[in-house]
Amino acid sequence: MIILKTSRELECMKAAGRIAQNALQLAGSLVKPGVSTWEIDRAAREYIESEGAVPTFLGYGGFPASCCISVNEVVIHGIPHKQTILKEGDIVSIDTGATFEGFVGDNAWTFPCGKVSDDAQKLMDTTRECLFEGIKAAQPGNRLGDIGSAVQRYAEARGYSVVRDFVGHGVGAKMHEDPSVPNYGTPGRGVRLLPGMTIAIEPMICQGDYHVKVLDDGWTTVTADGKLAAHYENTIAITEKGPVILTRGDR
Ligand code: MG
Repeated sequence: MIILKTSRELECMKAAGRIAQNALQLAGSLVKPGVSTWEIDRAAREYIESEGAVPTFLGYGGFPASCCISVNEVVIHGIPHKQTILKEGDIVSIDTGATFEGFVGDNAWTFPCGKVSDDAQKLMDTTRECLFEGIKAAQPGNRLGDIGSAVQRYAEARGYSVVRDFVGHGVGAKMHEDPSVPNYGTPGRGVRLLPGMTIAIEPMICQGDYHVKVLDDGWTTVTADGKLAAHYENTIAITEKGPVILTRGDR
């Protein structure tokens, strides 16, 4: 069931989204050679809690940390570790969620660690552009397939592939609500987008093939071919005037 939000609820979601985005920016600012992903996670958690919010991911389905930090061939759901030390040239996808006064903000960004290869930079740029192509298609009256096909066409035209096994989702009082928001699809198909819908659009784009596998820890999701992947995400609202990004920070 898709839950439409009132304008008052959208204001609450903006407040949660602000904290999630600030946590993401803070985490990204710490991406440097020699830093552990555990340190980044701790800083994000401390910030979220200092705002009176709760890190949405901590304990979610048993997830042991506040951020997902996914390096290079890790697509999503990387678990922060003291032993995972970032090095020059890594690409680091960080996903943060904050729950504040009953609503969730969910967002992700891929950050370069020092100087990255031209190929890695192009993957990151394209994936970020895919996110905004998807957002642009999230107009009231359009359908879910318009979002997915916008992302897919943009990525595939540039030689990349789109992960199928994981998709975006509705967001609200819970992190995962209906509907599922695939990053692939057919224009004009799927659920119609209505004002008051709030969704996370989150393209996961691969350098190689789109198949992924989940490691034995039950979380870490890597590309099956070991090539790089990038991940960008915003929580947005569909409004009469078009899409509005709810995960906006102070910067
Ligand atoms: Mg999400």
